[in-house]
Amino acid sequence: MIIHMTEGATPDQTERVIERIQADYGLLCETIVGYDSTVIGVKGIAGIVDEGRISELPGVHRVIRITEKYKDASRNFQKEDTIIEVGGASIGGRNLTILGGPCAIENEAQALASARIAKDAGVDVLRAFVDKSRTSPYDYRGLPLEAGLEIAAQMKAETGLPTASELIDLRHLDAFLKCGIDIIQVGARSAQYSPLLEELSRIDVPVVLKHGLGNDLNEWLSAAAFIMSGVDREGRNVGHGNRKVILCYRGIKSFEVETRFANDIAMIPRVRLKSHLPLIGDPSHSSGDKSLVERVAYALVAAGANGYEFDIHSNPAEARVDGAQAVNVEAARIVENSRRLHAMLGDVGIASGTSVAAAALGAVGS
Ligand code: PEP
Ligand code: MN
Repeated sequence: MIIHMTEGATPDQTERVIERIQADYGLLCETIVGYDSTVIGVKGIAGIVDEGRISELPGVHRVIRITEKYKDASRNFQKEDTIIEVGGASIGGRNLTILGGPCAIENEAQALASARIAKDAGVDVLRAFVDKSRTSPYDYRGLPLEAGLEIAAQMKAETGLPTASELIDLRHLDAFLKCGIDIIQVGARSAQYSPLLEELSRIDVPVVLKHGLGNDLNEWLSAAAFIMSGVDREGRNVGHGNRKVILCYRGIKSFEVETRFANDIAMIPRVRLKSHLPLIGDPSHSSGDKSLVERVAYALVAAGANGYEFDIHSNPAEARVDGAQAVNVEAARIVENSRRLHAMLGDVGIASGTSVAAAALGAVGS
């Protein structure tokens, strides 16, 4: 970030700006005194600096942001893809990681039967969702915590797969960790809930951060960077963060009613260019209809996603939540074709938008 002082700014005013940056954000500054005016360069995670506040200080002409607000998550900051290892799965880079399982744990029989179908289909990570955030709060919100987590642990033990589960209530975090949940998901409706993001910045467990229903890319990646950099209530960098963030694009709200959400496929290569973080998609929650899920899954792979997360249910017609978008044994075909497509596109990927960064790094082959 660069702070350009007005022509008539006094050395005292410049000093006060520097003091404010240091005191409020713990960042260092460097000053260039020109013939006409002075320029202050701010070093460090400038994303935490509130431009509005600084531009109000006496003597400040304008504040210019050089790096994105989401610096830690940005490809400009880190060229190489982040790869996250979890329970035998490698997420990011040239890997294709597929997460699947029921939208929610409803009861033991349903959850275990769905987990078996997902395992047989060849998913890498099992959805073991205990808490559900819903569009309508009257809808099914999952089993009581202990009962749900007990079944989640059984799903993991029976399949040997790592598990992902959405955390909605901060008070549930310890229980999730004790239960051995391997990936914590931040749902679309919680994507800007800073107390939750802050808590997740303090742990070492991978986080799937969904794209908020009405967020733009800058807001989404800023939430990711916030988890990664670890800042306190005052916006100060406290020197620790959780760098294991997986982005999940799931479409945004639009006027269209034929699909559940507007899933802009061009966002996949765009986000891969902007960020080094692993990026997955969600063909189930974006389309809302099982007859669309398979094609959307392939589209995500072709667009360069590092994988996707989809709903698999042992009996979609009886599901208490999102049965219309859940697949059953077809999951095996979808996973297999996705892997074939991914392998086939490996070489093409270098020239495509998604792999411009990889090409820039000198990567060859798939
Ligand atoms: C989910 O993955 O179960 C879910 C509710 O998705 P989203 O937060 O994207 O709506
Ligand atoms: Mn769902």
